[in-house]
Formats: sequence, C-alpha cells, structure tokens
Amino acid sequence: EDAFLNFVYFPLRDADGAVDGIVAFGVDVTEQVRARQVIEAAARQRDVLFQMVSHDLRSPLTTIRGLSQLLQRQLARSAAPDPERLRQGLSTIDAATTRMMRQINELIDLARTEAGQDLTLEREPTDLVALVEEVVSEYRHAASRHRFELELGAVELRGEWDRDRLHRVVSNLVGNAIKYSPDGGTVRISLEAEPAPTAEHAVLRVRDEGIGIPADDIPYIFDRFRRATNAQGIDGTGIGLASVRAIVEQHGGTVDVTSTAGAGSTFTIRVPRLPRERRDQPAGATPAREERARPASS
Ligand code: ADP
Repeated sequence: EDAFLNFVYFPLRDADGAVDGIVAFGVDVTEQVRARQVIEAAARQRDVLFQMVSHDLRSPLTTIRGLSQLLQRQLARSAAPDPERLRQGLSTIDAATTRMMRQINELIDLARTEAGQDLTLEREPTDLVALVEEVVSEYRHAASRHRFELELGAVELRGEWDRDRLHRVVSNLVGNAIKYSPDGGTVRISLEAEPAPTAEHAVLRVRDEGIGIPADDIPYIFDRFRRATNAQGIDGTGIGLASVRAIVEQHGGTVDVTSTAGAGSTFTIRVPRLPRERRDQPAGATPAREERARPASS
C-alpha cells in the first residue's frame, strides 16, 4: 500500500551562510490522509443520496398525479365510470404511496441513527414466510434476467418483529442480490428456524451469483455511505446495508456476509423471534420481573 509522507526541509549552511546541504524530515500522515479520503467519499455519497432520493420520490409522485388526473377526467365525462378501471387506478396509486412512504421512513430512520438515536421498534406478530413472498413478488417484474429460488421451509415462520422495518431488510437484501448480478442468474432465498428443537431464531439467507465483494471491502460495506470498489458502475447510495444492520441489531440479531469477488455473495441474518424480555419463558408464565417487584414483606 502507498504511504503518505509530509516532508519538512531545513537547509544546512556553511560558515559563509551558503547552503551546502538539506535535512528532510518525513512524517507519516497516511492515516490522516486515509481518514480524509473516507470523509470526502462519504460527502460525495451524501450528494448522490440526495440526487437519488429526489429522483426516486418523483417517479411515484408522477404516477399518483397522472392517474388521479386521469380518473378525475373519467369521472367528469361519465356519471358511472367503469368500476374496474377505477379500482385499478386506485390500487396503483395505493402502491405508489406505499413505496414513497417506505422511502421516507427509511430516510427518517437514517437521520435518527446518524444522530446516534435508537430506532423505536413497533413489534407485531409477523410471518416471515409471507413477508419474503411479498418482497419477491414486488421484485419479480423488475428482474426479468433473474431466477428466484425460494426454500422457505415451513408454511409460516412467525415472530414478534417490526414488520415494516423487516420488510426493508428483506427488500434491501433481495434488491442488492438482483442489482449486483447485472448478468442475471439465480437468487436463492432460504428461511430456517434455529436451533432445533426450540427454534428461537429465524435465519434468512439471500444468495446471488453476481459480482461479489472484494475481501478488502467486506469489513466496511455495512457502514453508511460505503460502497465496494467494484460497485462503481452500479447505482447506489450506500445506506441500504447500514439500515439492514441497524434494524437487525435493534431486534437483537446479527447480519453476516460471505462473498467471493466475481462469484457471488450470501447475506445471512439471524433474528430472535421474541424480544429479550419474553424469551426463556414458557407461554403464560408470570414474568420474573413482576415476581421480584412484589414487596418482600407479603
Ligand atoms: P448501495 O446503495 O450502494 O447498493 P448498500 O448499503 O445496500 O448500498 O450496499 C453497500 C455496498 O455493498 C454496495 O455498494 C456494494 O458495493 C456492496 N454490496 C451489497 N450487496 C451486494 C451484493 N449482493 N453483491 C455484491 N456487492 C454487494
């Protein structure tokens, strides 16, 4: 690796004051220069983020405005417009607003985690099998060069999770698997409950046959605004995996990646199915905390 040195030169003078030599001190500033480069790259990625967000929000807005104007014209023309066209138009508007809402929520979360705040999870009973199927169906039309292989195990895998945020996790991983295999290929998604027999964790794996991640970049790809060196020709903001990690860790889980540059990547997330305070307790048992909270004198 290159090093960066800051040199300071001192002239050496002879008795007459003429320069007859030079002393140079080199100070190794490699770390400072690298830190600067990381900060500058993050600033550039932030600009890219603003551009992409504005662009990404504009496209569903265009859909919403176009369709609502169309439906209004149809209503103006006919007292009894075709209910099927109305229904379709409204459902497209609904889908576009959902997409915008998700993007805005992701930005709000990004601002929160940048400010060092925790995400406040909104846990509700959630079926991960249905959620994965939903995400895949949202991507199917946009991924004509890819095959999806689902190994979902059981008919359902339920846990108490923040459904919208887990949707974002799965959507980021599946979206990346497609985006970073530009030549197509198979995207394999598997779900398991581990370990037997308690099945306390859900394990989701998303595997692709794409460009992979250079070994030197792997430690950084979960950091905000960091992108691998081989991702340059592919659009991105570098916030997806940071939000994946924040969400998974907030659920008490972990995220891992194994990858070989040029051969594909596998992302694995493990999330406990219940929040910490509800684990290790048979259903219906009185929480230990309440036991302790009773006065000792009774
Ligand atoms: P981006 O908006 O750049 O896709 P992410 O935070 O989702 O941001 O990912 C960070 C970086 O990790 C990407 O820029 C890319 O270099 C790398 N990466 C993520 N997923 C994959 C994948 N499935 N295959 C190869 N590289 C990936």
